[in-house]
Amino acid sequence: MLDWLNDEQRALRDMAQEFSRNEVEPIATAIDLDEHTPDSLIAKAAEFGLYGLTTSPDYGGAGADIVSACLVSEEIAKASPAFAGALTVEMILCPMTVEILGTEEQKQRILPRSASGERVMAYSQSEPGGAANASAHISKVVPDGNGFVLNGAKLFCTQGPAKTYLVFAKTEDGQGNTGYGCVVVEREDTGLDIAPYDDKLGWRGTNTGSIAFTDIRLEPDDILGDLLTGGISNRRANQANVLAHAATSLGCAQGMFDKTLEYVKERRLYGKDMSELQPVSYWLAEAHAKIAACRALLYENARAFDAGTMQGGMSSVCKAWIGDTAFDVCARLLQLWGGSGIMNSTGINRYMRDAKAKCIAEGSSEIHYAIIANQLFHGVPSLVRPPTKG
Ligand SMILES: Cc1cc2nc3c(=O)[nH]c(=O)nc-3n(C[C@H](O)[C@H](O)[C@H](O)COP(=O)(O)OP(=O)(O)OC[C@H]3O[C@@H](n4cnc5c(N)ncnc54)[C@H](O)[C@@H]3O)c2cc1C
Repeated sequence: MLDWLNDEQRALRDMAQEFSRNEVEPIATAIDLDEHTPDSLIAKAAEFGLYGLTTSPDYGGAGADIVSACLVSEEIAKASPAFAGALTVEMILCPMTVEILGTEEQKQRILPRSASGERVMAYSQSEPGGAANASAHISKVVPDGNGFVLNGAKLFCTQGPAKTYLVFAKTEDGQGNTGYGCVVVEREDTGLDIAPYDDKLGWRGTNTGSIAFTDIRLEPDDILGDLLTGGISNRRANQANVLAHAATSLGCAQGMFDKTLEYVKERRLYGKDMSELQPVSYWLAEAHAKIAACRALLYENARAFDAGTMQGGMSSVCKAWIGDTAFDVCARLLQLWGGSGIMNSTGINRYMRDAKAKCIAEGSSEIHYAIIANQLFHGVPSLVRPPTKG
């Protein structure tokens, strides 16, 4: 499979495999148990060029395509689906949003320091009124003197050691026009209040939590893209990240499968090899088939994305279907571990927990099925429907 990968993509996959095995795997269970990702891992990921992977070389990145980003995401997720999930935000979502929306000055200011890992970024959109339901969001940017002021609150923001926040909010231009924009908030800004990070089921160690903004002063060059439409103009970054997120679900299922196969091959029960128990071999074969189908679906679409030919709604198909399938695979295979699978210390059940978190983060499966339905019935691959007649 994937015999069409070019030399550069293969080299990146090999590099990510090595990084995953040597740097991530040895501490992946500790990241989960301690709810903490060591700064040293983040520094090594930056050293390997992962933070600037898709950022253009003009701004300190490697300019890699989305197939490459998916390969890297899959390899890292085999060891730590949680760390891989947080990494897509740094590799793709935030820098690509800046590259799409930003002015030349903003790109020069933000991207090289994000690519080097000096200033980790966070993407802050979800709110209590529903992550995808922007009309219910309360965060607001309004004009104030020569600049603007931001007030509001966000939920579930994956931050790691973030220093630069991309914040999505309702906007007003002071001339009666309203919209949905994107602004840059720095950790040092007065009025940024980060709550203690939430303890969570999966994706542990990635510092997900709530943020409050009180009278945060913004200069005009803190507004990313058009004041009134910036928040809905980075769809390409969202789609790319959704594909990479699906790649982390794939890697999560593959990581669980690899460890389970190894375990089953070595374990003896009732005086014979465990693999001779009929349901055991069947479930492994079934998982193998499902993972292979997910891989074919994902890379076909990542390749089409890079070529500019991906069909509407297909990033959502990948996210929802691969995410749900990965959870089913992990839940099924966990059963083969018996009591060992239930003990957190074996580092196995984290795959199932991470797989479930992936069915919610970056838009829950149902949100993505709603996007697919909009594509089917209205020809629009988003939740924003065209006005109806009459
Ligand atoms: C580990 C983790 C990390 C996250 N990181 C970030 C981050 O960095 N930045 C950020 O902004 N957000 C982040 N999120 C938030 C995430 O994007 C949202 O949790 C997710 O999109 C679901 O939104 P919600 O929690 O508001 O659920 P709700 O909107 O309340 O939805 C609840 C459920 O209702 C159903 N539903 C909702 N909408 C629809 C629909 N349109 N059609 C059909 N059914 C629907 C689904 O079953 C959904 O799961 C993260 C979440 C998690 C769990």
